[in-house]
Amino acid sequence: MIAAAGEAKGSRIGSNARSAWEALRDEAKGCKRCHLWKPATQTVFGEGPVDAALMFVGEQPGDQEDLAGRPFVGPAGQLLDRALGEAGVDRDRAYVTNAVKHFKFEPRGKRRIHAKPQGPEIAACRWWIEQERMLIRPPVTVALGATAARSLLGKVVTIAGARGRAHTLEDGGECWVTVHPSYLLRMPDHSRAQEEYARFVAELRTMGERAAALTR
Ligand code: SF4
Repeated sequence: MIAAAGEAKGSRIGSNARSAWEALRDEAKGCKRCHLWKPATQTVFGEGPVDAALMFVGEQPGDQEDLAGRPFVGPAGQLLDRALGEAGVDRDRAYVTNAVKHFKFEPRGKRRIHAKPQGPEIAACRWWIEQERMLIRPPVTVALGATAARSLLGKVVTIAGARGRAHTLEDGGECWVTVHPSYLLRMPDHSRAQEEYARFVAELRTMGERAAALTR
């Protein structure tokens, strides 16, 4: 299984990394850098091993994540888990987080409808992603969707234009861009959705292999 790579990297991570990460997570609980903290239930910080070779960055927590206080526990997270399993990537060895750490939504009756984060919110929350990346230093960071790509690359990109190759981040780490799993869930055409899902799995396999190669 590919992500055993993270274990090899563990030796170069200081033993205080976990407590530094916990301090960061606790600090994020009180973040008011933008207005999104107000209507949301709580900050949904990233989670996973602090020596992860792969970091996955989504857009923002959804309704279920907002209530649970954990990233990628809703339907999109379940699809990601399945795809990682099929790609041979050990989910438990990956760090998962979001570009924006509070749930942005519009109330509609009793329901809370997802609302897309805008540039100023993405920019405000970028500070947390930078802290997470600085601490974990993953050789490969994966942007799931355009919001994550915008946060990580610092500019607006299209998925079609950015996927399929490595982008070098300021700290020298690689960033790979692909779709957000929620995009696959929303596709109305079943056969097209299957094709896109297969492409997604193939990309995850490539990213996992890349992370393993970079941590040897
Ligand atoms: S969305 Fe990010 S920047 Fe805005 S309040 Fe929440 S944690 Fe802070």
